[in-house]
Amino acid sequence: MLLRSFGAVASSDDATRRRLASASSSSERRAPSLDAMAEPAPPPAPARAPIAGDLRAEIETLCAQIEALWTNVDGAGELVASIANVRAQAQRTIAVADEGLPLSHTDASVAGGGATTRAKIAADDMSAEVIDTNPYSRLMALQRMGIVSEYKKIREKSVAVVGVGGVGSVAAEMLTRCGIGRLQLYDFDTVELANMNRLFFRPEHAGMTKTDAAVRTLRDINPDVDYESYHMNITTVEGFHRFTESLKDPHTGASRVDLVLACVDNYEARMCINQACLEMRQTWMESGVSEDAVSGHIQTMTPGSSACFACVPPLVVASGIDEKTLKREGVCAASLPTTMGMVAGMLVQNALKHMLNFGDVAKYLGYSALKDYFPSMHVHANPECDNGACVRAQKDHREMLESPEWKAADALRAAAEAAAAAEEDAKALHEENDWGISVDGGDEGGDETSTVAGAGGGGEGEKGQQTLTAGIEFSMPTSDKLDAETVEQFKVKDTGADLDDLMNQLSVLSSGK
Ligand SMILES: [Zn+2]
Repeated sequence: MLLRSFGAVASSDDATRRRLASASSSSERRAPSLDAMAEPAPPPAPARAPIAGDLRAEIETLCAQIEALWTNVDGAGELVASIANVRAQAQRTIAVADEGLPLSHTDASVAGGGATTRAKIAADDMSAEVIDTNPYSRLMALQRMGIVSEYKKIREKSVAVVGVGGVGSVAAEMLTRCGIGRLQLYDFDTVELANMNRLFFRPEHAGMTKTDAAVRTLRDINPDVDYESYHMNITTVEGFHRFTESLKDPHTGASRVDLVLACVDNYEARMCINQACLEMRQTWMESGVSEDAVSGHIQTMTPGSSACFACVPPLVVASGIDEKTLKREGVCAASLPTTMGMVAGMLVQNALKHMLNFGDVAKYLGYSALKDYFPSMHVHANPECDNGACVRAQKDHREMLESPEWKAADALRAAAEAAAAAEEDAKALHEENDWGISVDGGDEGGDETSTVAGAGGGGEGEKGQQTLTAGIEFSMPTSDKLDAETVEQFKVKDTGADLDDLMNQLSVLSSGK
C-alpha cells in the first residue's frame, strides 16, 4: 500500500515512469546474463536547468531503491523499514521540487549526479605529470620512487570482491582509487541504517542493494574502472554456479580475474569461494574480523602451494559445531570501522603487491588491536585435506616443482635477482644530492667499518664494531670495550637477602617512607 501510494505520486512524471520501467527491467537483465552493470543514466540534455538534473538523479536513486525492495522481500521487518526510508526520501525530494530549490550537494553526489564526475582516462593516457588535475600522479610516482616497475599495469587487472560489507566496501573503494581495471562486486544484502557505524555507505543508501549502491558511489570516484554488480547469494546451488561462471572467461573457461578477495562474514561463503578458486586454480585472499571487533586477519591462498580454507578449518568447524547455532537471538556482533579499515588496508596492500609484483605478499597476517600485535606466518597445505580439488592441486604443484622447465626457470630467476642485487649495490646512494649532504666516516672508521649514519644500513661494520662521527658518543660502552670495571659496576649483586626481606624493602619503598 505504501509502495502504491508512492507510485501514484511519482507516476505524475513521465520521465519517472520511464525510469521505473527501466529500473524494474534491469534486475531481469542482470540476473541471468551476469552482464556488466549498465550505465546508470543517459547523459543529461545540455540545455537542462541544474535543478531538473538534480531531481532526475534523485529520482533515479529512489527507483533503484524501489527495485531493491522488490528483490529483497525475505524479511518483513526490514522491508517495512526500507519502504519507510524510501518514502521519507521521496517526500523530501517532492518538497524540494515544490519549492524549486536545488538539492543539497550531499544528495546530488549520492544520487550519482554527473556535475562533479570527470571524463574517463584511457590506460595509455595515464600520466605521471604532477598537476592538480591528474588523478593518477601520486600513484604513478610509485614508479619514479622505484617501488613499482610499471604502475599502469593496474589497468589490466581485475579483482572480484565477494562481500561488500565493512571490509569489502572499503577494499573496493581502495582498489577503485588505485585505478584497478575491472571490479566485480558480489553481495546479496541491502544497505541498512545499522551499517552506518562502518565506512563507505551513507544513510541515503539505506534500502539499496549493497552492490548497486557501491557501484554508484565508486563510479563517481573513478569512472575509468569497469564495474560489475552481482546481487546474489553465492552459497545456494544456483548462486554458486552463477558465481563461478562470472569469474570465468566464456571462451577459454579459465579465470578472468587476477584475484578474488573474500570479505564475507561466514564459513559457508568462504567454503564456496575456496571451492570455486580451487577448481579454477585461482589465487584468492581471505579476510576476517572477529566478533568482538578487536582483531582480524588476512590470508593468501594459492591452490596447491599454500593451505586452502579447508586445509586448516576454524576450531569451531573442526569441533563439529554448527556455525548457525552460535548466533544468539537479539545479540549482534560488535564491529568497529577502525578494525575493518585496518583489515581492508592490509588486504588491498597485499593485493597490490601480488598484482603489481613488488615487496613480499603476506601469507597470513593477523592484527590484534588490544596489543597492536601483527602475527605473520606461512600456513602450509595439508596433504590430508578433505577437499579433493586441493589435494589434486598439491600434487600438480609438487610435480611442477620437480619439472626441468621449472628448475631452469627458477635458476634464471635466481640469476636475475642476483644480478639486480649486485647492480643495486654498485649504484651510488642518493645520486641526486640536491642539498650537498655528505657522510663523514670519522677518524677511526676507515674503509672496513661503516658508520652509524653511513651507507650499508646496518650500522655495524664488518668487524662488528660501530664508529661515530665527531661530537657523538655512545652512552654505554660498546661490546668490544666492555671492560671489567664496567661489568662490575652494572652487574646484579647477591646481597644474601631472602624473598621476605626483599618484599619488606619493596613495601617500604612503595609507601614512600
Ligand atoms: Zn586444502
